[in-house]
Amino acid sequence: MSGLLDELYRLQERLRFVQTRERERDTVPAELTEVDNAFREKLDAVARLKQRLIEAEIEHRRASAELSDLQEKQKKYQTQLRNVQSSREYSAVLNEMDGVEKQIRVTEDRVLALEEELETSRADLSKREQNLPRETAEHEEKMKGWRVTQRGINEELQAARVEIADLESRIRPRERSEFQRLLEKKGGLAVARVINASCSACHVKVRPAAMQSLKGGNEIIYCDSCRRILYYDPHNP
Ligand SMILES: [Zn+2]
Repeated sequence: MSGLLDELYRLQERLRFVQTRERERDTVPAELTEVDNAFREKLDAVARLKQRLIEAEIEHRRASAELSDLQEKQKKYQTQLRNVQSSREYSAVLNEMDGVEKQIRVTEDRVLALEEELETSRADLSKREQNLPRETAEHEEKMKGWRVTQRGINEELQAARVEIADLESRIRPRERSEFQRLLEKKGGLAVARVINASCSACHVKVRPAAMQSLKGGNEIIYCDSCRRILYYDPHNP
């Protein structure tokens, strides 16, 4: 039994270790935050620019298609205009043509504006993409020390995960799932050490009878107050 509790306590410790270390690995240190943000902003700008180019190309194709439709219409009205029979019909067609011409001017302006935007954005993107390899190298150089730290953490995590898998394989499924359930319910702390005859998680005194059972180490004892599994380490009471 005490073997099981040792294993549960160690498993919990390793799981908490992994959680903490993962967070540390994924949090850029304060002194590098600005450098890292500046670099990320460059990457984001390239991504945004690419996205905008895709959209602008679609808008440009659409506006160009609209323009040729309008120009077709204009030609049709020009033909009609040559064949009108009455002055009333003539002014009606002229009126329609007027409307189409206005639309043509607006659409032409849009096509031109998009062409300008596409040209500027393509140049901007190509300049940024040209600089990116150098900027990435410079950034990685500044982050070098941190990358070494991150690799070190990854190695620690790797070792911890191996130990976790080993511990999990040794704990019976029923006890493992009970532990897992408690772990989720109790914010990652399922097993609480008993220190000075108190539960170290909620600081409530452990009843003397429960203390006796804990010292006997032959059953799982839950804290009366917080319902965590109590862990008594005779070498560290
Ligand atoms: Zn408790």
